[in-house]
Amino acid sequence: THFGYRDVPLNEKQGLVDDVFHSVAKRYDLMNDLMSGGLHRPWKDALVTAVNPPKGDRDFALLDLAGGTGDVAFRVAEAGGSSTRVTVCDINAEMLAVGRERAEKRGLDGQVTFEQGNAEELPYADKSFDCVTIAFGIRNVPRIDKALREAHRVLKFGGRFLCLEFSSVDVPGLDKLYELYSFKVIPRVGERVTGDREAYQYLVESIRKFPKPKVFAQMITDAGFRRVSFTPMTGGVVAMHSGWKL
Ligand code: SAM
Repeated sequence: THFGYRDVPLNEKQGLVDDVFHSVAKRYDLMNDLMSGGLHRPWKDALVTAVNPPKGDRDFALLDLAGGTGDVAFRVAEAGGSSTRVTVCDINAEMLAVGRERAEKRGLDGQVTFEQGNAEELPYADKSFDCVTIAFGIRNVPRIDKALREAHRVLKFGGRFLCLEFSSVDVPGLDKLYELYSFKVIPRVGERVTGDREAYQYLVESIRKFPKPKVFAQMITDAGFRRVSFTPMTGGVVAMHSGWKL
């Protein structure tokens, strides 16, 4: 690429991704706010609105894949009723450790549990969850098709899959600004705060390489989901994809 990041072979990608989140885990939440200018909050709020956990005491089991430090999980637990349970599954022990600590501080450790697992091979039985979410995680998974099929497998019939991910900006002007911001600003700020420029360069590259929203929607359909749709947000900086297991 013009910014010098090498193409990572599929079998090396997970190791690289794990290094990235190992090195940023402690500062991950701060970096999220800094880099997105706080925008990850309304994006996640939109996701929680779509999840729509029951307010009453009806049982509701959410699996938040690549859930990291628990951001989405806490929001859903707070929006839902007393029988809303969230399982955060992430491959990275450091991210999970930060998440557990945050859950305790918020008094949500009864409702939210953190478990280590690979999105490509989920340690859960078929039809275990009412909803599966993944926020800014799918582009880190080397074999996306595998992860989508696993999400489908562990969902109950009638359950919904929701995915938030960086997408492609298609607003003239905004696209140039976004390129500049992501290739110039993000790696520098990343280096300043975490000392790891490579990690943030990887982040930017992985966003650029992620399939366009229509292509990704087709991948979700190919994994077995029905009524697949997507909603671009903030001029296409992010898209929310949705699919149902029917
Ligand atoms: N969902 C959280 C959020 O929105 O704040 C965290 C997103 S973070 C950008 C990406 C997460 O994906 C990291 O915590 C990383 O460990 C996790 N991850 C990467 N590859 C994974 C895999 N194969 N299975 C599960 N989680 C994975």
